[in-house]
Amino acid sequence: MKASATMPVTHRRVSSVGKTQVSRVRSRAVQTAPVATTTSVAYDIHGDVDKILFEEEKIKQRISVLGKQLAAEYADKTPIVLGILKGSFVFTSDLVRAMVPCPKGLTLNFLRASSYGSATKSSGHVKLTVDINLDDIKGRNIILMEDIVETGLTISTVKKALLVSGAKTVKVCTLLNKNNNRVSRYEPDYVGFECPDEFVVGYGLDYEDQYRSLPYVGVLKPSLVNIPEFAS
Ligand code: 5GP
Ligand code: MG
Repeated sequence: MKASATMPVTHRRVSSVGKTQVSRVRSRAVQTAPVATTTSVAYDIHGDVDKILFEEEKIKQRISVLGKQLAAEYADKTPIVLGILKGSFVFTSDLVRAMVPCPKGLTLNFLRASSYGSATKSSGHVKLTVDINLDDIKGRNIILMEDIVETGLTISTVKKALLVSGAKTVKVCTLLNKNNNRVSRYEPDYVGFECPDEFVVGYGLDYEDQYRSLPYVGVLKPSLVNIPEFAS
């Protein structure tokens, strides 16, 4: 995002009080230090989006279906829903609340995995940061939550590590599946949407750690993104 994205603007407070009140306000102002009121003009991140691929409402509907499906399939278990940070935090949050009914409950945890060497290109190596007690994983059924699966390297690495640590089952649930660049044979078990081969942001997905809060998934204006293969 541009450094000039947030422009501080100083406003003078305009009073609508009558004469008597104005003089009272003035005399009080003499006794106390004047307070500068600073407001920011909101930077409109929506303006950076070139096109929306998956609208907020469409995501909501799909998650409701996925949630019910997972709830039914795990009805006799207490799964661990394991979100891969940071990208899956929005998806994970919405999906666990869509998993109804959930008679045996579920537990929730997160781990950190990163594979992107640059902002838009996978490095081919997956770095895992796990802060989970391995005893908690042993014999458990895990639903691994991803924002997007591209090469498949991240999920295959995490899945392997969990199975080696004693997980009983590990299934992968991803919001988006972009399967043009697969290098791993692992396929997600649950997919929100098939995604075209574009660099997408929003609904948890970032570009240089921005745009995660967009309620939809979209593609940024080409002039804002440094993607060598997409550069004209
Ligand atoms: P994989 O290991 O499957 O190649 O990469 C998966 C990870 O790459 C995702 O968790 C995500 O962090 C990142 N990624 C892949 N494609 C995109 C994309 O289009 N947009 C964003 N923001 N991240 C992506
Ligand atoms: Mg990710």
